[in-house]
Amino acid sequence: MDVGRLPSGGDELTPAEDSGPTKLKMHPLAQWSIFPIDLAPCPPEKCSVRSYQNYIGGQWSAAASGKTFETRNPADSREVVASYPLSGTPEATAAIAAAQAAFPKWAAQTAVARGRILSKASQILESRKPELAELLVREEGKTLTEATGEVGRAVDIFRYYGGISYSANGQTFPHDLAGNLMFTRREPLGVVALITPWNFPIAIPAWKAAPALLSGNAVVLKPASQAPAMTLEIARALHDAGLPAGVFNVVVGEGRPFGAEVASNPAVQALSFTGSHAVGTSLYQAVAPRRIRCQLEMGSKNPTLVLADADLDLAAKLVAIAGFGLTGQACTATSRVIVERPVLAAFTEKLIALAKVWKVGPGLAAGVQMGPAVNEAELQGNFDAIQQAQAEGAELLWGGGRLTEGDLAHGWFLQPAVLGNVTPTMRIAREEVFGPVVAILAVDSFEEAIQVANGVEYGLSASLITRDFKKAMLYSERIEAGVVKVNQISTGLALHVPFGGVKQSSTDTFREQGTAALDFYTRSKTIYLDYSA
Ligand code: NAP
Repeated sequence: MDVGRLPSGGDELTPAEDSGPTKLKMHPLAQWSIFPIDLAPCPPEKCSVRSYQNYIGGQWSAAASGKTFETRNPADSREVVASYPLSGTPEATAAIAAAQAAFPKWAAQTAVARGRILSKASQILESRKPELAELLVREEGKTLTEATGEVGRAVDIFRYYGGISYSANGQTFPHDLAGNLMFTRREPLGVVALITPWNFPIAIPAWKAAPALLSGNAVVLKPASQAPAMTLEIARALHDAGLPAGVFNVVVGEGRPFGAEVASNPAVQALSFTGSHAVGTSLYQAVAPRRIRCQLEMGSKNPTLVLADADLDLAAKLVAIAGFGLTGQACTATSRVIVERPVLAAFTEKLIALAKVWKVGPGLAAGVQMGPAVNEAELQGNFDAIQQAQAEGAELLWGGGRLTEGDLAHGWFLQPAVLGNVTPTMRIAREEVFGPVVAILAVDSFEEAIQVANGVEYGLSASLITRDFKKAMLYSERIEAGVVKVNQISTGLALHVPFGGVKQSSTDTFREQGTAALDFYTRSKTIYLDYSA
């Protein structure tokens, strides 16, 4: 991103296309019934509640138990957005069996043939972008600008992997003997399991599923229960694009039985998980006995370092966008600002000035920069973290209160919070909060800033604001993070470059996104060929 061009509040993934002010409609998606089986108790044109099913073996199906659960709009918890099957072990087993059956034929297709289906799915998703963005806002809570950018990112991901299908293969190597050749083939792993979080409900399933499918694997995916709709919309797009039955399967419901089945079912060859550190760690231990390939991308405590020579207006804007944008519910969000003492007061003042005018409200309302927390538990987690910080001696400089004016009382809204007087040993400086809560730490030197930045267990993203080229280079060498930004927001990723964390943020083995993702979803075979005789 050009430093001179500031992104809008929702620039986590891609420069978002702002589709302009949108009126809040109660039944925005009711005009079409999406699935052959629709459990909605009222006619689609009158019913605001979507009814989704699992997608297993190319069929839409309920849970064997008949149980369902519903999602609610974080901006107004009175509104039920959709109902889903509450699936468990039988559905996980069925999805894995369907994937196992579909795998050989899918793997036997050329990558180009597989890529064509991904490209077609991209076109289908693109044709439905405004509706999907609106549904995403209603289920997850981010702003329409942010959601539109995220749906656009999923469109681009499928297009990207469709495009690289023409080059996604192995390498050739010269031999030291004439008439000999060596080459590698990328081969799919088999059935791969994907488990995804709620905070990027379409981008993350897309960035895992697209490279997995392009590589010739069959997929079983469990989305987060907080926001499963987008994953099922991906399934629908792939289905309509002509993906063979069983190649892509979605099971909605409880994480624990799905994880247990993935861990024990010998058909599953790999697990890619994005989510919390606690769940990721338990899954890592569960799959370890079978030694399957496992990729975990988890939480973090991302710093932005503000040096004394920084453009402080720029620094405050970048921190506000990376800290308050997406309601701070991004794994790459800035939650620590490490500021050189000579500019501490001026920077703090500028950040607070922005926090005071940061517009909080329902994501579908015009001009809103920050939506609600995703649910009551996350909201309470923010308040608890702020209280704990104050108990340890931090000062709440601005915000952090619940917003209850008018209809906001029905949602999980809070003011962006700025905490000062924070020291590196406080919990607020060490543990992920996953909300718009920014802690400011003062340091006396560039060296100390790096030391404080690195002094946590996590290492996903880190940003530095400076005009000093040498310090920028030294920082990029020394910072312990997988994503390193200079004069940019700590959030915001390109889809075609490697992405992943270090330390406790990741298994730190394989990277996601771009061609790096193909390394996880394929194994390499080396062929020695002698045609000299
Ligand atoms: P989470 O609670 O760990 O859930 C993630 C997924 O795991 C959900 O689909 C969840 O299903 C499932 N799950 C829960 N318990 C499970 C179990 N015992 N076995 C198998 N699956 C289980 O995380 P979250 O609250 O959705 O997401 C927020 C976290 O994700 C934050 O820590 C954030 O930093 C991290 N994150 C990291 C990245 C990254 O790339 N590093 C990106 C985005 C988010 P249910 O929803 O049904 O419980």
